[in-house]
Amino acid sequence: MNDDDLKYLISGKEFKSFNDYNGYQWCPRCRAKLEIGEMDESIRPHCPACGFIYYQNPAPAAGAIIIRDNKILMVERSISPGKGDWCIPAGFTEWNEHPQQTAVRELKEETGLEISITSMFDVFMGMDDPRTHAVLILYHADVTGGELIAGDDASDARYFSFDNLPSNIAFQAHRDALALYRKRFLET
Ligand SMILES: [Zn+2]
Repeated sequence: MNDDDLKYLISGKEFKSFNDYNGYQWCPRCRAKLEIGEMDESIRPHCPACGFIYYQNPAPAAGAIIIRDNKILMVERSISPGKGDWCIPAGFTEWNEHPQQTAVRELKEETGLEISITSMFDVFMGMDDPRTHAVLILYHADVTGGELIAGDDASDARYFSFDNLPSNIAFQAHRDALALYRKRFLET
């Protein structure tokens, strides 16, 4: 990806939260008013009283591509953002987790299925989730147990043919992942 592509990607997907630093105004350490200015070669909120610097980073998330009979497992979101839309089962990584553990946990929570990671699929940049930018890590995995039932923040879980995917996919990173899967494995 060259710089021009990257600028285009960011500008096309920008949300208000991207440049307002989540609206943070006060130092979480000492409660002084944060100042926004150059710090470590970028514009960052920082605290003039105690030196705290707010580094805004994308949040890691992980999930799994599960294929059965040439169909991909997807879940319908029961909560915002994207309530009622479909996505690949995935979720944010907890503090003490490896992303592989995140994928296994999220699949169990959202679909009831136990999985075994088999390999890496790819990494996607999510810029259209109003909560945070995300680095979405998707694995290939096999189902090893459990029973398909929607749970946690999913209201439905089903396998879809790539020729008959839902029209309402929740996030651009998931649309990108589906397009890449199709290009890499289904187009000859
Ligand atoms: Zn402070």
